[in-house]
Amino acid sequence: MNPFINLGIRHDIVNAISELGFENPTPIQEQSIPVLLTGSNDFVGLAQTGTGKTAAFGLPLLELLDFEENHPQALVLCPTRELCLQITNDIKNYAKHMNNVNVVAVYGGASIQDQLRQIKRGVQIVVATPGRMLDIINRKAINFSQVKFVVLDEADEMLNMGFQEDIDSILSTTPDEKKTWLFSATMPSEVRRIAKKYMTDPFELTMGEKNTGNVNIDHEYYVVRARDKYAAFKRIVDNNPEIFGIVFCRTKIETQEIAESLIKDGYNADALHGDLSQQQRDKVMKRYRERSLQLLIATDVAARGIDVNDVTHVINYSLPDEIENYTHRSGRTARAGKTGVSIAIINSKELGKIRQIERTIGKKFVKAEIPTGFDVCEKQLFALVHKVHNVTVNEAQIEQYIPRIMDEFKDLEKEEVIKRFASLEFNRFLDYYSNAPDLNAPADDFRRDGERGERGMRDAGGKSEYTRLFINLGSVDEFNRGDLLGYICNNSKISGRTVGKIDVKGVYSFFEVSNGDVDQVVNNFKGVEFKGREVRIEISGEGTSSSRSGGGERREGGYQRREGGGGFNRDRNSGGGGRREGGFNRDRNSGGGNSGGGGFRDFSGKPREERPERRRRF
Ligand code: AMP
Repeated sequence: MNPFINLGIRHDIVNAISELGFENPTPIQEQSIPVLLTGSNDFVGLAQTGTGKTAAFGLPLLELLDFEENHPQALVLCPTRELCLQITNDIKNYAKHMNNVNVVAVYGGASIQDQLRQIKRGVQIVVATPGRMLDIINRKAINFSQVKFVVLDEADEMLNMGFQEDIDSILSTTPDEKKTWLFSATMPSEVRRIAKKYMTDPFELTMGEKNTGNVNIDHEYYVVRARDKYAAFKRIVDNNPEIFGIVFCRTKIETQEIAESLIKDGYNADALHGDLSQQQRDKVMKRYRERSLQLLIATDVAARGIDVNDVTHVINYSLPDEIENYTHRSGRTARAGKTGVSIAIINSKELGKIRQIERTIGKKFVKAEIPTGFDVCEKQLFALVHKVHNVTVNEAQIEQYIPRIMDEFKDLEKEEVIKRFASLEFNRFLDYYSNAPDLNAPADDFRRDGERGERGMRDAGGKSEYTRLFINLGSVDEFNRGDLLGYICNNSKISGRTVGKIDVKGVYSFFEVSNGDVDQVVNNFKGVEFKGREVRIEISGEGTSSSRSGGGERREGGYQRREGGGGFNRDRNSGGGGRREGGFNRDRNSGGGNSGGGGFRDFSGKPREERPERRRRF
């Protein structure tokens, strides 16, 4: 039997959600639906966004309301217009096969007349943002005297946005005996207080640990110098060719500037912030949802309630001022059971903030290294190879050209042709990234701020105790750090305790050994083969990671580093010179961003600090 039927949901609703692809209830649905279906409890659910909480309260509402009656019986309050529309739409979808279900979305920034008309026609479920709801109540255009259920969705966000008084006023127009269901991603004391104020003996459900972030999110931080931040950010993006990400900045002006720079540098990016008109914001969001936009650069306020699945990365270009916002930001990835990465690009002084966030989310960050130019080239090359392998061939169109193409290549072996196709792109990557500098902040920078490496790397006099060695084995040989540590220790007969940092790359890796062990490692590896290939160990020109910034990294084939201005040129048609017009995504029409020629006409261009519309702290 369908597991939703077991939870007590009727067939016509189950059919509708099956069509949406809901086969099994999510954990919050499994636990809350039976409780809420009784209709007799107040309820507090501590759940991240993306866990399926809309259906967790939406399905019970559809079971509990009387749709023969056409007056408001349920009110759902949520913080943003986007979320309001999302919830309305979701509930309508769940009710697709039911009759007489009327759901109205009430939110600011759209015609109030239309909303009043819809309310007048008759409605059982009102989904609203607090400001517009109060406006309609004040016009005496709605009667909440028969409301049975009030849902406070993303309660922490509503409080963050200063809606407490509005919520008080709205709830005072609903009957005392109604049941209140509160959902929140975090449970700061303010939310606790309103739970106490509006509810009697609520049923409490905590999905995962209190205040714990989504377990499917990996948290990483990169330490860079302030002046290298933008270049480092681009390098991270370049190293993730399939990224579909949201980049958070702290202010509107920073959001705007980063988006403009990215567009100029040929990335498929655009900005989302409060200085845009609603129409402009809708347009950006539409492009992002359709995935014709690859990077959405946003402020916290503008990005609230964004519900886009498959976001692969959240990048904190700047850390938020308030720790709670980190949870909201990172919750934009790893939705609906998927995995995701939340990245923070910080300077050495911000390590304390990372530790604070770790305590709040109950999860450790991994310190990651800004990839080298060589790493990026390798990633891009294999992404290209993968794309070539998987491309859909338009047989009908290409057929007529095949004889001529074959003729052109008749003097070349298959391997040679492949090599040349790959080189066409790879040469550009190499060219752009030749001489690219190391963008990681020197370890000294953050040691001073209290960060200790996992393994001590310097003696008291500041001299390195470790030597960094190169080995021609890496992840393509299916080594991870642990495997490589074992492999090194077995072959060189040294103790794992004397091995320092291990940096596994694609076709090679670096590892540190204490200075006294270097000769033993080099000698014992002489003649060792891996799958018929000679294993090479060399002393890296770079020294240990703690003196990394000093010299150029050793590269095979005389590969040099230099990071030019501009960005990484992905546009095949842009011609030489590293400039390009198009966007990241050659397969789609990325169009210019707002920041390009088109929109943003109402943006003054003057530095203006982000002012959340209704910010009040409790
Ligand atoms: P929500 O937390 O309600 O915003 O839901 C996050 C995403 O998960 C939405 O895209 C839902 O459509 C999807 N979703 C919710 N419940 C289920 C389910 N039981 N099975 C599959 N997807 C779901």
